[in-house]
Amino acid sequence: MLETRKADTGTDADKNILLGRFSSEQLHWLDKARQFARAVSLDEVMASDRDNVFRRDMFEAACREGFGSLPFNPQYGGSGADYVSFCLINEEFGRRCLPVMSSLGVHVLCQEPINRFGTPEQKEKYLRGSSDGTYLAAFGLTEPNAGSDTAAIETTARLAGDHYVLNGTKTFITSGASADYFIVMAKLIGEASQDATESGAAKRGGNITAFIVEKDYPGFSIGQKFDMLGMRGYSTCEIVFSDCQVPSHNLLGQHGEGRKVALSSLAKGRVTIAAQAVGWAQGALDALLIELQRHYRDGDLTLANELNGMAVKLGDLAVKVEAARALIYQAARFVDAGESNVSVAGMAKTMATDTAMLVAGQAIDMLGSDGLKNELLLERIFRDAKAGQIYEGTNQIQRMLIARDLLK
Ligand SMILES: Cc1cc2nc3c(=O)[nH]c(=O)nc-3n(C[C@H](O)[C@H](O)[C@H](O)COP(=O)(O)OP(=O)(O)OC[C@H]3O[C@@H](n4cnc5c(N)ncnc54)[C@H](O)[C@@H]3O)c2cc1C
Repeated sequence: MLETRKADTGTDADKNILLGRFSSEQLHWLDKARQFARAVSLDEVMASDRDNVFRRDMFEAACREGFGSLPFNPQYGGSGADYVSFCLINEEFGRRCLPVMSSLGVHVLCQEPINRFGTPEQKEKYLRGSSDGTYLAAFGLTEPNAGSDTAAIETTARLAGDHYVLNGTKTFITSGASADYFIVMAKLIGEASQDATESGAAKRGGNITAFIVEKDYPGFSIGQKFDMLGMRGYSTCEIVFSDCQVPSHNLLGQHGEGRKVALSSLAKGRVTIAAQAVGWAQGALDALLIELQRHYRDGDLTLANELNGMAVKLGDLAVKVEAARALIYQAARFVDAGESNVSVAGMAKTMATDTAMLVAGQAIDMLGSDGLKNELLLERIFRDAKAGQIYEGTNQIQRMLIARDLLK
């Protein structure tokens, strides 16, 4: 049965409008996420950012609620929900449950390739372990010399009997210092790299291959930990492979399929980020409303003067948030229809992160120095949104990919 959800009634300013029609199952997940997020205090949200500390306990609690493997088959412990539901919970987490938001999104992103390319044994171990929070997953693609240009990665993998030997460094890895296993892309070298070439992957990046690497494998270590402007509290760091031994059964997909593995998950991951960013934008709007309503009540603003000018800006921001929201749920519906569309995912990611940046920035402008008070979370959203415009493919690169698709 489809229902139209109009407004949430948590607080005066708590009015995110969901114009789309959602099924009762989808609204069930939204309500669950809302309850979970409301139980997280403002102090906890601020502390994870201030102290740059990841809340593993909160992540495990989220997994116990079924959020950690929401869009996957119950056969391996998944919650069996659709991608629209997953976006609804991500929006809610972006809005007010920031201590686990990004790690949870990446955790699901990592299960996607296992679900699609993994062996039954890999699914049994890693999907089941991820669903209940026993394992936290992280995604290792970016390197010091390879960000937007993923084909330029330098980490190598060489087959040596019953295991692969990995060497190299991955950087800016969300959850890196807390994760139990990593989806890692490396360039195959040595004799085995012939397979990749023979399988028709001779083009640039064609020998990139995906592996599942556990944190306890010999030769794996955590490198530099980052103290960043935004997206703090997610254990973001370098991970280092020094003759790291990965059992051959932890090859994910075939030799030379690494880019396919990585890009297939990122197409969905960008929709997840878009949902989180609409949550940031809504969170910024919530904060602005609370403050404007307070000023209005105190008589500092009246509808006849300042608030009128403010009202035009406020209305404009609300239009932008709702437009971004409409696009992301459209992108999520594409995913659910099995038509995962890289261009639409890129549009959603770009639109939502740019909207979050705009709303947070303008809300701060409208509130003056009050807007910088950290308990409003506006300044946190402003910093996080800046990072959101960069990660999982910068918004400039997204625009180029969209243009390339149009020109095809
Ligand atoms: C908070 C955060 C979390 C992250 N988490 C992860 C993670 O979990 N796993 C992971 O693998 N990576 C992660 N990353 C890395 C992220 O995906 C990269 O930072 C991103 O892809 C951009 O790469 P780069 O930083 O090397 O920038 P660069 O690629 O060096 O780009 C620098 C600038 O040049 C522009 N540019 C680059 N190439 C072109 C071109 N051909 N034409 C025009 N302009 C271009 C870019 O748009 C950008 O403005 C994370 C990053 C951040 C900030």
